[in-house]
Amino acid sequence: MNMRNIHDLPALETPKLYLDGVSVFSNPLAKKRISSKPLSAKKVKNSPKVLMYHRVVEDKNISGNETKCVHVDEFRKQLEVLEKFNYTPITFEDYSLHTQNLLRLPQKPVIITFDDGYVDTYDVAFPIMKEFGMNGVLFALGNRSILTNKWDEDQEDISRAELMNNEQLVELHKNGFEIGAHTLNHPNLKDLSPEDCYEEISNSKVVLESIIGEKVRTFSYPYGFVNKRLKKLVAKSGFDFACGVYSGPVTFSEDLMEIRRLEVKNTTSVIGFASKLLTPYEYLEYLWWKFKKQ
Ligand SMILES: [Zn+2]
Repeated sequence: MNMRNIHDLPALETPKLYLDGVSVFSNPLAKKRISSKPLSAKKVKNSPKVLMYHRVVEDKNISGNETKCVHVDEFRKQLEVLEKFNYTPITFEDYSLHTQNLLRLPQKPVIITFDDGYVDTYDVAFPIMKEFGMNGVLFALGNRSILTNKWDEDQEDISRAELMNNEQLVELHKNGFEIGAHTLNHPNLKDLSPEDCYEEISNSKVVLESIIGEKVRTFSYPYGFVNKRLKKLVAKSGFDFACGVYSGPVTFSEDLMEIRRLEVKNTTSVIGFASKLLTPYEYLEYLWWKFKKQ
């Protein structure tokens, strides 16, 4: 099969996602080409950088105090850095097309992920990303009756925040965002039996698929906790990709069940953000992780 250049894909009326300026994922033809077969890891030259966000907020009192809350002004500056250095946001779904030789990745792919599914990802981050013609990946909970981050209730330094409803998830998805799963209830999977872990992982996929009406391919481990047993359960549940945080190999494609991400925090300066992208920062984090594991 010949690899198609993304520019060969038919143009769309309302491009939502840009790969070198061409919309791909709102293209139904492109979607049909994704096989349901599990992916094998494939070495690529232009390995995507994966960024992790939780909340993007307008309130400086919150961003001033909470690690996981990036102020909207900083977020905008970070997107400007991505744009300036020619990074092109893609999704894991795009990467899966690439592994099937159906899509050529841009030179500098980046995957912008958001964990937990906060309303501010929809209200604050999404409109700015839209302005930049960028998309991302949102990891939501399968238990749709959970309305706030109640799993953080023991943590006094983390404020309560509202989670997105189903309509907002669908709207994001329609606008080129990939929706991934983050378990049903946000437990720390290390505390659960294998049976309960499997239920949390696989049922979150089923529920979210029923909401967006499409396959959910990517999982994010709550608290970044991952081990061999969990990776097997995630693969058994039918996910093609799974994201940790500070673990996993430095090259994206080496272990698709433990993808390392670069966390963007409230204290991440523009220079800090640029150096995460442009220097071997990830490699240093990886060496530190290996050292600690010994
Ligand atoms: Zn989470």
